Amino acid sequence: MHKTLIGGGLVLVDNAQFAQVSLLIEQGVIEAVMPAGEAVAEAQRLDASGRLIIPGLVNGHTHSHGALGRGGVSDLARLETFLAESSWLNMNRQTDDLRLCAELSAVELIRKGCTACFDMFIELPGPSVDGIHTVAEAYDSIGLRAVVAPMIADQTIYQALPGLLDAFDGPLGDAVGQMRMPKWQDTLQVCHEALRRWPAVSDRVRPGIGPTIPLHCSEDFLKACAALSHEGCLPLQTHLAETRLQQIMAQRKFGMSLTEHLDDLGMLSSHFSGAHGVWLAETEMRLLAQQGAGICHNPMSNLRLGSGIAPVRRMQDAGICMGLGTDASNTSDGQNMFEAMRLAATLSRAQDDDPTRWLRTADAFRMATEGSARLLALNRVGKIAPGWAADLVFLDLGYCHYTPLRSPLDQIVLAENGAALREVMIAGRTVFAEGQVLTIDETALSARAQAAAGRLDHANQDTRLMCQAAATVVQSFCQKQCARNMNQQRKAP
Ligand SMILES: [Zn+2]
Repeated sequence: MHKTLIGGGLVLVDNAQFAQVSLLIEQGVIEAVMPAGEAVAEAQRLDASGRLIIPGLVNGHTHSHGALGRGGVSDLARLETFLAESSWLNMNRQTDDLRLCAELSAVELIRKGCTACFDMFIELPGPSVDGIHTVAEAYDSIGLRAVVAPMIADQTIYQALPGLLDAFDGPLGDAVGQMRMPKWQDTLQVCHEALRRWPAVSDRVRPGIGPTIPLHCSEDFLKACAALSHEGCLPLQTHLAETRLQQIMAQRKFGMSLTEHLDDLGMLSSHFSGAHGVWLAETEMRLLAQQGAGICHNPMSNLRLGSGIAPVRRMQDAGICMGLGTDASNTSDGQNMFEAMRLAATLSRAQDDDPTRWLRTADAFRMATEGSARLLALNRVGKIAPGWAADLVFLDLGYCHYTPLRSPLDQIVLAENGAALREVMIAGRTVFAEGQVLTIDETALSARAQAAAGRLDHANQDTRLMCQAAATVVQSFCQKQCARNMNQQRKAP
């Protein structure tokens, strides 16, 4: 039996304290945490001297399709504008483009210390069995752990937001008004089929389901997604209360908050996680906690799209399982979970005057490991302990972030950005070392990405112009709705 003994490193054991111990790895699992220097017969020795060893980071919310979308949308876009403008980026993509996106995303994740992700990827006009399986196979081949969840909806943004279509006129209004998503029954049929014929990938890559935004999904569709999640014990994720506008529109459309609406439909469970949760009221937090549901905090994307700063400490206090994510490479401009941890910890300091209410580095680290792993429904992932996955990140103790070394966890969360990353192991297999991802040809990958972007930009030229024009109307509509809502709140007794 193939065994590896990793010795010489300073290891974060149990996500609690650093210790000079050895790790015995067998069949992708940490078999034992042993006193330093102890030998094991027949184990291959891996020298980790000069390394800090931490569990791999888990990205609780991303979209691989964003990897081919960098630089494709105005830097001034708020979320709704981004959704309207960015749709051109996803047009005319072939199955090979979906694979390419998953590969690009996986490479960046690995390069920044992440060993697992929840990927809500989009395929237009709707998901296909081939598309879902191709993304799963891409993660399998690169060696990342992943939940592959097609991002699905049965309403366009123009149908989803009450009053938005009225803000349009002329041919542009006709064009956006005629857009349609596939019938939800057909979409769900594809998801069922993809699941039934799940490819022979390793246990590391699993299916999930991603109804995109509750406002964009009919009630029957959401209920069918929840049923699928329940039957197959699949993690289900949706964007929840990401923006103020989403809550304003929920009141208008459903007469209640987004979380109350989902609760009414029986959506909330321990399989459920909401991405963002920036605009959740206390009552919604309680509902989520009561049902064992989770929230994935995406601080960089929330800043980039002007969505706000999520009330992480209050969500944590309410008893919600908290994970951490990056969101897409074109809404947070990277897949850096070190950055997400650092922001989670530091932004909380801008929200409360009382330092005892700030997010501690250990809280941010737990969110980025065990917390996110829970949202992915992964057991025994996100911690270095016997019986847990051998998903390990090796940091260079000689790097400036750790010189001098006094409080390793504080120094990792508050200073690390991936620059000290030297090796990454996933399920006992080294996938990154000596500056290279070992499971794919990165030079060829980069050339393929550039070629695909050139082809897609050319094919989508006209759509791009239309999306940009539509996005201008969406931006001003959202602005007006939010201003009106704030005025009403001010006038309210
Ligand atoms: Zn997202």
